[in-house]
Amino acid sequence: MSDLTTNIEMLNSHLACFRTDGILNLIGGESRPAASGATFDTSSPVDESVICPVAKGGAEDIDAAAAAAKAAFPAWRDMPALDRKKILNRIADLIVERAEEIALCECWDTGQALRFMSKAALRGAENFRFFADKATSARDGQQLQSPTLMNVTTRVPIGPVGVITPWNTPFMLSTWKIAPALAAGCTVVHKPAEFSPLTARILAEIAHEAGLPAGVWNLVNGFGEDAGKALTEHPDIKAIAFVGESKTGSMIMKQGADTLKRVHFELGGKNPVVVFDDADLDRALDAAIFMIYSLNGERCTSSSRLLVQESIAEEFEAKLIERVNNINVGHPLDPATEVGPLIHKVHFDKVTSYFETAKQDGATVAVGGTRAGDQGWFVRPTLFTNATNDMTIAQEEIFGPVLTAIRFKDEDEALTLANDTQYGLTGYVWTNDLTRALRFTNALEAGMIWVNSENVRHLPTPFGGVKSSGIGRDGGDWSFDFYMEQKHIGFATGPHKIPRLGA
Ligand code: NAD
Repeated sequence: MSDLTTNIEMLNSHLACFRTDGILNLIGGESRPAASGATFDTSSPVDESVICPVAKGGAEDIDAAAAAAKAAFPAWRDMPALDRKKILNRIADLIVERAEEIALCECWDTGQALRFMSKAALRGAENFRFFADKATSARDGQQLQSPTLMNVTTRVPIGPVGVITPWNTPFMLSTWKIAPALAAGCTVVHKPAEFSPLTARILAEIAHEAGLPAGVWNLVNGFGEDAGKALTEHPDIKAIAFVGESKTGSMIMKQGADTLKRVHFELGGKNPVVVFDDADLDRALDAAIFMIYSLNGERCTSSSRLLVQESIAEEFEAKLIERVNNINVGHPLDPATEVGPLIHKVHFDKVTSYFETAKQDGATVAVGGTRAGDQGWFVRPTLFTNATNDMTIAQEEIFGPVLTAIRFKDEDEALTLANDTQYGLTGYVWTNDLTRALRFTNALEAGMIWVNSENVRHLPTPFGGVKSSGIGRDGGDWSFDFYMEQKHIGFATGPHKIPRLGA
């Protein structure tokens, strides 16, 4: 990986076109400003400098994008799956070709460290390849024989869909939602997060360069309360795939009610990492640290609650304190940086407000709890100890590099604490007792659980949460369940008796 100076030079060359043209919407294959002409600025969390103006789309732009997606739908749906597969693979190739540009722009726009973003760009390509391969089986169904009928099922794409993404790892998450939609045969209107619009524009450009027909993928930038809301209310948009906060999910459900929108929600989390005294404590320590302090802690699957068994808590916390104090906070384009700045002042204010809350709640700020530097939205990696599960810092999603450590006596108490939250996205369990692992994971309320491991994503497995953490699953065929309708057709196999009325 190049050094900081070289990375900044490369970034500046990539930003030149954004600085000249700003970020336009892409509707029906055409780059367009917002219909109102309005723009907003996107700025870097590193130094608060403006990167470029962005088209501020609203209802009129969403309407145009939905019309383009509707017009493009029949031809895209009916295109042979092998041809769709070729285009999706070509998108993946072009992502790989531009991976460095994508990673540098994402880091500058979001504050994420390059060491993680270079991999996230490549994961975006993998998402396209994975669903390219699945495109050819998307319409497959079953044959269910009955005495008088041969029943077959098939899947058909639901129609134009809306995809609304957040600002944390926006590139990877956009590919994660859009690739299966396209593989299924849906057309898309994408509304990326207002804080991080750069790479969504690069991605849409790549898709068109790869030969995606005009109107299949439309990009409308703008704020949640206008462009986002209009998308969720649009009658021609059949479903909304949303990743973001739980309270936004509730709003979207209400907004989509009149048009009976199908929704898929990936929402917040307050995920426990449960460390029992029989675990491999060195590995548990590495994983617990990685899962909360990587990606600036702005990660839905972060292990933000450490539940540690009393018998080993003192030793475990002491090692944790030493390691967290050593985490390297710095410029996201510096290859040595482990934690960069938080996305925006609004989010910085939210995260830092918990430093005071922790003290008021009676927890100990064992590490961090302060801003880092005086420019940009940097905070020191933070660890709260002596916490209890009823504290605000143990219940609310802080979404920063902030870990709350809570001690437990035994397995029963660990389970009670782990489940005592409104969320249920992921859980991480560290124990070498196999029976306990089986028992515990069976009772843990979470959509995804890893035993003796950090979060390692495997694309064919289901991704999603329970309780306030989401509705529905992504991954493998589960993605097609959302983007497609099941259709049943019954063929009579002979002249079975039909009830005769009025005969
Ligand atoms: P957010 O909910 O504020 O915004 C997400 C998107 O929704 C943005 O594009 C925003 O413009 C849009 N939006 C806001 N209000 C809207 C409305 N009324 N109608 C339609 N769209 C609207 O979330 P965020 O702050 O950008 O992202 C962080 C959150 O996302 C965290 O809670 C995090 O846990 C969650 N997240 C969850 C997952 C998961 O897989 N479960 C993955 C990543 C992030």
